[in-house]
Amino acid sequence: MRPIGVFGGTFDPVHYGHLRTAFEMLQALRFAEVRFIPCGDPPHRGKTYADARQRFEMVRVALEGQPGFIVDDRELQRDGPSYSVDTLHTLRTEFPDRALGLILGMDAFLGLPRWHRWEEILELAHIVVAHRPGWRAPDIGPLGELLGRCGTHRVEDLHESTHGKIHIHAVTQLEISSTEIRELVEAGRDPRFLMPDAVRRVIATTRCYGTLDDRFL
Ligand code: ATP
Repeated sequence: MRPIGVFGGTFDPVHYGHLRTAFEMLQALRFAEVRFIPCGDPPHRGKTYADARQRFEMVRVALEGQPGFIVDDRELQRDGPSYSVDTLHTLRTEFPDRALGLILGMDAFLGLPRWHRWEEILELAHIVVAHRPGWRAPDIGPLGELLGRCGTHRVEDLHESTHGKIHIHAVTQLEISSTEIRELVEAGRDPRFLMPDAVRRVIATTRCYGTLDDRFL
C-alpha cells in the first residue's frame, strides 16, 4: 500500500503554495493521499489570526472535490498545544503498517530541532522536505548529521519502509505566504489568484483578516 502524506500547518490561510506543494508530492512521491491537518493550537507561533474552526473551514473548502486530498480535524479535537509528534502517534496507531510521509517546507524543516520530542518523529514517519526558494539544506549541526544518516534520493525508500527516511524534493516555487496574504487583506486588497475562490469567500464572510471588498467574489 502506498504511503500517506501528512501535511500539517497553521494554514492561516491556506493558499496555492500549500496546495501545489501537496499536489506535487502526491504525484511525484506516489502517495495514496495527502492529509491536511490544520493545527489546533500552534505551539511555536503564539496566537493565530483566524481561529482554529475558521482555518479548518478554509482548508476544507479548498480541498472539496479534489481527489487524493483529505482534511483531517484530529488536532482540533485535542486540547492543549498541537504537537506533531502526538499527531503522528495517533496516525501510527490508526495505520500501523502504512508508510507515513510528513511534508515540511524547508523553513519548517530547519526549525525541527526546536519541536517537542523531535527525535521521535523519524521513528513514526518519513520526512519529505519541499524545497522552498532561498533556503539551503543544512550540511552541519544536528540536521546535517540527521540528513547524512537518514537522507535518501530514492522515492522507493519511502515505500519500502514505514518511517525513518528524509527525502528532499524540489517543488514548483510559488513564493506565496500566509503572512503576506493577511497583510494584503488588512490593507484592504484582494488575495484573488493566490488561493481558491472558495477560501476567499470564507475570508470575506468571517472577516477574519479584515474586510474584503466583495464586489469580485
Ligand atoms: P507564514 O507565511 O505565516 O509563515 P506559512 O504558509 O509558511 O505561513 P504554515 O501554514 O504553517 O505557514 O505552513 C505549512 C507548511 O507549508 C510548512 O511546512 C511550510 O513550510 C509550507 N509552506 C508554506 N508556504 C509554502 C510555499 N509557498 N511553498 C511551499 N511550501 C510552503
